[in-house]
Amino acid sequence: MARIKKKRLVQMAPGFGGFKPFGVLCKKEDKILINIEEYEALKLCDYEDLTQAEAAKLMNISRPTFTRIYESVRSKIAQAFIEGLPIIYEGGDSLIAEWYTCDKCEIIFTLKDGGEMNCPLCRNKEITLNKFE
Ligand SMILES: [Zn+2]
Repeated sequence: MARIKKKRLVQMAPGFGGFKPFGVLCKKEDKILINIEEYEALKLCDYEDLTQAEAAKLMNISRPTFTRIYESVRSKIAQAFIEGLPIIYEGGDSLIAEWYTCDKCEIIFTLKDGGEMNCPLCRNKEITLNKFE
């Protein structure tokens, strides 16, 4: 079966800035940075249960590139988890703070600065701005 609903989540940025461990006093420089690509790779494989081949296709990257990103994010999360380090999502505040929903096909997406104000999937111009507050 096609996973039509799963595709709606492509390009969704995290709705918050990261994670902090309990009971650890962290120095400012002690942190693990996870970029949006890594976040997306982990989400598609481990949260959406897509195969790596499916996820690579959705992200429009080659399978080896996907595997590299996916292994990188898993290793970072493991390090943060074991060493008690905070995780910070990289990618810019505006990207994390707001996202859009297409009024026609209902996919959720973010817009790049200076990018066109339309849906990346169907090009519909009726889009709704959502903000994380
Ligand atoms: Zn659309």
